Amino acid sequence: MISDLLPSAVLNGLTWFASRAEAYLALTLRDYAKLGLVLAVTIVLEIAARKNWRVRYGSRNFRIDLLYFVFYYGGFYHLFLFVWMYKALHGLVVAYAPWMQLNLMASMPPVLQMLTIIMVSDFVGYWNHRWKHSNRFLWAFHSIHHSQTKLTIVSNHRFHVVDETLLRLWLFIPFQILGTGVAMWLWLDFLMAWVLYLQHSEWNWTYGRLGRVLVSPVFHRKHHAKDERLYNSNFSMLFSFWDDWFGTAERVLPPPAEHGIEGDPVPESWLGQLAYPFVEIARELRRSRPAPRAVVPPLGPAE
Ligand SMILES: [Zn+2]
Ligand SMILES: [Zn+2]
Repeated sequence: MISDLLPSAVLNGLTWFASRAEAYLALTLRDYAKLGLVLAVTIVLEIAARKNWRVRYGSRNFRIDLLYFVFYYGGFYHLFLFVWMYKALHGLVVAYAPWMQLNLMASMPPVLQMLTIIMVSDFVGYWNHRWKHSNRFLWAFHSIHHSQTKLTIVSNHRFHVVDETLLRLWLFIPFQILGTGVAMWLWLDFLMAWVLYLQHSEWNWTYGRLGRVLVSPVFHRKHHAKDERLYNSNFSMLFSFWDDWFGTAERVLPPPAEHGIEGDPVPESWLGQLAYPFVEIARELRRSRPAPRAVVPPLGPAE
């Protein structure tokens, strides 16, 4: 048996992971159901509308986006990284900044708790996103999300692990102040997932007047444009009004014909994408280092 060949420490580790992953998978069952439901309905609608669904859902890039989903919701990210990071941060707050744990939402009714946590996370998400576009090192990580040329709803999960972790780190602060443990109504959870997923579909939907409040597929597709005039606008995640309020909304130009990054520099493999930002940053740093001074031969007597 294979278990006889493995050292007991490895075997114990694998058993530990399997038991924790099982418990974690039960928790994320709702996320799998959300993705499955939205994906099924979207594909049926796209077949009916004769969209180029075969090209997009049959692509290698679509399978890579699915892999991102499994990575974030299958227990790998959570058990190997997030739990430890969260424990360490929580320990730091308890030891050095207990005043942060104000638990401001404790006396609020559940509806208000839900609204507060959604608004605050979305606001933090907006500024976090803008920062990633203005800092060249952070852009190296965020460019993975923009590298998808064939958008499907699963592109919603295409984020480099550093990019994803950064957002979670930022969110840790308001969650400490406000308090966690907010229950979310099932229908609201599904509705939000729907809005987030559909942003990455190729539907030409603007949601009409509702598009002034929620991010529509057209609104977010512009953010995925190759066109420079478009991709540095529409940073909002769930509510589109942040872009209007902070002057980054683009609601006039037509949706882009092409998505992705000019020149398609990001590799089309999961591991390649994991390494890409580090390689890019190393290249950037090398480029910005001053060039060695050229050796000038001593001038001879003028002839
Ligand atoms: Zn972006
Ligand atoms: Zn996106």
